Order: sequence, then structure tokens, then C-alpha cells
Amino acid sequence: MVIDILIAGAGQAAAQLALSLRQRGHTGTIAMIGEEPYPPYERPPLSKDYLSGQRETHRLFLRKPEAWAERRIDLHLGCRVAAVSPAARRVTLADGRQLDYGWLVWATGGRPRALSCPGADLAGVHAIRGIADIDRLKGDLTAPKRIVVIGGGYIGLEAAAVLRGLGHTVTVVEMQDRLLARVTSPVVSQYFLDLHRRHGVDVRLSTGVRALRGAGRVTGAELSDGTTVPADIVIVGIGIIPNVEPLAAAGLSCPNGVQVDAHCRTDDPHILAIGDCALHPNPYAGGLVRVESVQNAVDQAKVAAETILGTPKAYDAMPWFWSDQYDLKLQTAGLCAGHGQVVVRGDPSRAPFTAAYLRGGRLVGLDCVGTLKDFVQGKALVTRQAVVDPARLADPAVELKTLA
Ligand SMILES: Cc1cc2nc3c(=O)[nH]c(=O)nc-3n(C[C@H](O)[C@H](O)[C@H](O)COP(=O)(O)OP(=O)(O)OC[C@H]3O[C@@H](n4cnc5c(N)ncnc54)[C@H](O)[C@@H]3O)c2cc1C
Repeated sequence: MVIDILIAGAGQAAAQLALSLRQRGHTGTIAMIGEEPYPPYERPPLSKDYLSGQRETHRLFLRKPEAWAERRIDLHLGCRVAAVSPAARRVTLADGRQLDYGWLVWATGGRPRALSCPGADLAGVHAIRGIADIDRLKGDLTAPKRIVVIGGGYIGLEAAAVLRGLGHTVTVVEMQDRLLARVTSPVVSQYFLDLHRRHGVDVRLSTGVRALRGAGRVTGAELSDGTTVPADIVIVGIGIIPNVEPLAAAGLSCPNGVQVDAHCRTDDPHILAIGDCALHPNPYAGGLVRVESVQNAVDQAKVAAETILGTPKAYDAMPWFWSDQYDLKLQTAGLCAGHGQVVVRGDPSRAPFTAAYLRGGRLVGLDCVGTLKDFVQGKALVTRQAVVDPARLADPAVELKTLA
């Protein structure tokens, strides 16, 4: 039997695609193949209230487990797509089963990048990507621990904030000379550095990790400056590797994720790709990027649904993201990479404040640090890349909606 829409992966993007197809009246067969044993769930709480113990596992699920069957969406969980044969339109699962498809949609996300230094596989070294990772980490947090977080990106910093809140000793080690270097401006990086230090996190910038030490279990992290930080637990948050090997082996272009066009089409006419694993043309980036966010996963899934339904729409959604650290919410609109000018609304040493990014006089991004109103009002301006007066933009008393 041929499955009309076969989705590799059962995460955020896969779930949205299946739901969108049904909402838009698609009546064919839909199946998701998911490597994890859970029905589709949201990952953002993993480094936030799931790690802190304030959310139970079933409250991560995007829909009640029975909702999938009610919509005739078949879930094959605990299964991995191991190989793809585009010519036969067939996938082979890791257990040897073969399934034929009409459309294959690749929505496999990524796996945590591992450290390459000695000691990377010691017990007590953790990654943060799935429910199982957090459950394993929580199992190690039975008493106050000395924790080294490697990587000062969003996930590492969110984990650091939660773990400090739980009373653990936390050191963050970041190779760049500032936190969140890949995703934000120096002014916002500085704010988060001060915030974490104020909460008692020991942040080491411009510092790498030479080796993890310990016999069987980690006892310390030896840093590039020659010091060794004692550690009962090490959390590695240094990014993800897109899960695209079966597509690359099948001959599809996978330079950094699987390459797609604005309609989520790969170079095979029956294979689409969406979410964290899709290297796509993004008008806000001015080129090909992979974006790791719920917004991107959901909006690309909707675009892929339209491609399948024969009503193609180009992907042009405005990127947005959020991060919760301590009692602070950061909300971002647009992509700040490549901005020319930074205009700060408010005092950047104290939240709330907003960093606004201009390119050629146009507003291309916002980092709203505790400024929900700026986020809500500013999104439309970023979508339009509105020309704004920097002097009025800089005045927090001027509402963003009046700037258009
Ligand atoms: C801890 C954490 C916190 C985050 N916080 C935020 C946030 O605050 N805001 C935000 O916007 N985004 C956040 N994100 C990012 C967001 O969760 C991802 O961008 C989103 O989950 C991507 O969806 P996806 O469907 O592409 O991938 P995923 O949700 O990762 O789903 C992919 C699924 O495919 C499975 N899979 C992989 N290979 C195969 C295979 N060969 N066969 C079958 N199945 C396979 C994987 O096991 C996985 O279950 C966070 C992510 C993490 C890990």
C-alpha cells in the first residue's frame, strides 16, 4: 500500500503539517514516523518549566494522543527512517520494514552536537534536546550539584537559569567573547551576561574546553585557559546537527540541512523538507539559512501543506522567537544578523528595554527584553521592514505603532 503523505519525524513541524493537511480538507492517508517514543510534543519547555519540574510530560504533548487517530493520522513511534529510495518512492525503516509514499516530507530536526574533546562520553555529561535527555538530567540532580554548562546560547542559558533557581552551582563556558553571539547584538549579550552574573552564575567568556576529566564519571572540565572547574554534571549546548543523512545518501543536496526552495521542495519532485533540518531561502536573512524555532517549523509546515495541495505559496513568514531566563522574557522579531545600526529604547543595563536593528534605515529586527508591547506593536513594522526615524525609535515613550 502506498501512503499518500509519509512524514519522517514526529515533532513540531511534522505535527503541524499533518494537522494543516486535514484542516485544509486533505483526505488521503497520512503517516508520521518518529524516532522518539512520544507523540508530537513541544520542546521549548524542556529547558524551562519541564527542567524545573513545573510541567508534567503529558502537558508537553501538542495534542492528546487520541487526537491523531481521530484525524486518521497514523503515528509510528520508536521507528527511524534509515534509507530513502527516491526512484522507487520508498523508505526503509531501521527495523527493515519498507513503506511506499506519494509524498515524503522530511521533518527530522537535529541532534545535539557532541563535544569532540577527551572525556566527552563520561557519565554525567548531558545534552538537552528531548524528553529523555531532561529525564536523564533530572535523575542526576538529586542533591545540590556543581554544573558546568558548555555553550552560552539560548538553551545553555535557559538551563543555567533554571538550575541556579534550583540551587545548583553553575558555571557557563562560552568560546565567543560574548553570550548569544550568533543571535543577538553586543548590547543584549551584555545584558544577559550581567543578568546571569547577578544570579550567581560564573560565566567564562572567550574560553573553550580542552577535556572533561573523571574516571567513568565526570569530575571536572579542563578549560582552554588551563584552569579546571570541578563538575558533577556537564551540560553540552553547542548547537545541533541536522538529521539528513538518509537524504544525503539518496543524492539530495544537503550542504547544511537539506536544501529546499521557497515551497519547501527539495531537488526531488516528491520530497519536501521543513523545520530545523531545512536549509531554505529566507527573505529576512537575504539568503539560505536553517532556522531553529517553533515559528519556522509551524510556518514551513503550512507552506509544505499548500505545496502538496497544489496551491503553492512561497515561504516569507517573519521570524520570531522567545527565551525565558529567570523571570525575564526575551522576544525577538526578524533576524538581527547583518544589521547596520542598533537603536536602544530604554536603559540597556536594566530591563525592560528593546534593541531595534536597522539596515539602510529600515527596521529589520527587534530584541524585546521584557517589552511585550514593543514586540506586539513592532512585529508589523519588521514584517514591512518599515523606514523609521531613529530618534523617535530611540524614545521609549513613543509607541512603535505610531512610527509607521
Ligand atoms: C530545549 C529546547 C528549547 C527550545 N526553546 C525554544 C523557544 O523558546 N522558542 C522557539 O521558538 N524554539 C525553541 N526551540 C526550538 C524548537 O523546539 C525547534 O525549532 C522545533 O522543535 C523544530 O521542530 P522540527 O519538527 O523541525 O524538529 P523536532 O521538533 O526536533 O522533531 C524532529 C523529530 O524527528 C525525529 N527524527 C530524527 N531523525 C529521524 C528519522 N530518521 N526517522 C524518524 N524520526 C526521526 C526526532 O527524534 C524528533 O522527534 C527549543 C528547542 C529545544 C531543544
